[in-house]
Amino acid sequence: MSAEPSTRTRPPYILARAEVRGVERVSPNFVRITLGGAELDEFGTPGDVYDARVKLVFPPASGVLPAIDRDTDDWWASYLAFPEGERGSMRTYSVRSLHVTDAGTEVVIDFVLHLAPGLTGPASLWASRAMVGDELLIVGPRRGRAERSGIEYAPAGASSVVLVGDETAAPAIARILEDAPRELRGIAFIEVPEAGDELSIDAPAGVEVHWLARGDAAHGLRLIPTVLDYLGDTGHSEITVQDAEGEDMVWETPIYSGSGEEVVTSSGTEDDRYFWIAGESGVVTTLRRHLVKKLGIDRSQVAFMGYWRRGVAMRG
Ligand SMILES: Cc1cc2nc3c(=O)[nH]c(=O)nc-3n(C[C@H](O)[C@H](O)[C@H](O)COP(=O)(O)OP(=O)(O)OC[C@H]3O[C@@H](n4cnc5c(N)ncnc54)[C@H](O)[C@@H]3O)c2cc1C
Repeated sequence: MSAEPSTRTRPPYILARAEVRGVERVSPNFVRITLGGAELDEFGTPGDVYDARVKLVFPPASGVLPAIDRDTDDWWASYLAFPEGERGSMRTYSVRSLHVTDAGTEVVIDFVLHLAPGLTGPASLWASRAMVGDELLIVGPRRGRAERSGIEYAPAGASSVVLVGDETAAPAIARILEDAPRELRGIAFIEVPEAGDELSIDAPAGVEVHWLARGDAAHGLRLIPTVLDYLGDTGHSEITVQDAEGEDMVWETPIYSGSGEEVVTSSGTEDDRYFWIAGESGVVTTLRRHLVKKLGIDRSQVAFMGYWRRGVAMRG
């Protein structure tokens, strides 16, 4: 007789089939999709979601989602074992909110709609057409687990936070601020395509939230100068956003460096702010250059995360 696997041996994430329970066009460039279903019952820990990333698998043309093996330790290998045409597409998103009630668990995702010809992709297209009852797969943190799978936000003992992002990071920033202790202090800068995309966030009273509508400006060109001005970096009239082409996505946090550089330890500066910066990779790389090289901000205080790359389709 085979024994049920104990809680301890189960992985810190869950892989669930979920269905669309609600679709709401909350602004010109965001669609809010609520996912539900019995397989989400152990998804996420309410109040401890922060910037948790999830993997979403959208169905291929056949509409049939891949039957990824859930009993293996390596769901990723199982996913990759499907022929490309049967695998669907996997992309990374953040949890805007998590609702756990007697009726079950619902996970809310805010999708940016980028639908211009040549600049769109399977996730954005799926979101733009989603209807109640549509299904996808979601891989995310398992409830109550100490590993807090996929959460990067880690301000430790910082006295205040500086959160910076574009529209793809807006859902994570919103969740961070709504899960944060009410006494948190700091500032957030969020660049969105237009003023109508400034969505409401229930932020702690001590955190100022600044929305920056991009309008006709290039991506990042409202965000970068505003952040640099705030940090006291003057003389940056000629900002050019670093072109990330040919480079890997920047992913560098106090405990991990995607570039293979040594993980940093504090150089013991007086500044004890925690910086969380996410969005288009070239924009994040440009901010990184100014913050670390010009302003001398200690890398051990900053998480720099490229969430997408202009002109490049993601692969998970
Ligand atoms: C940790 C993490 C959390 C994320 N959270 C969210 C989230 O909550 N909401 C969200 O909307 N996105 C989020 N993203 C970003 C999202 O994964 C990417 O935007 C992804 O490329 C979308 O997939 P796609 O299939 O629509 O486009 P892809 O097939 O990946 O790309 C196709 C084309 O679209 C362009 N493109 C991709 N994204 C955008 C964009 N936002 N604006 C303009 N052009 C774009 C690409 O440059 C490429 O040319 C997150 C990414 C990461 C890594």
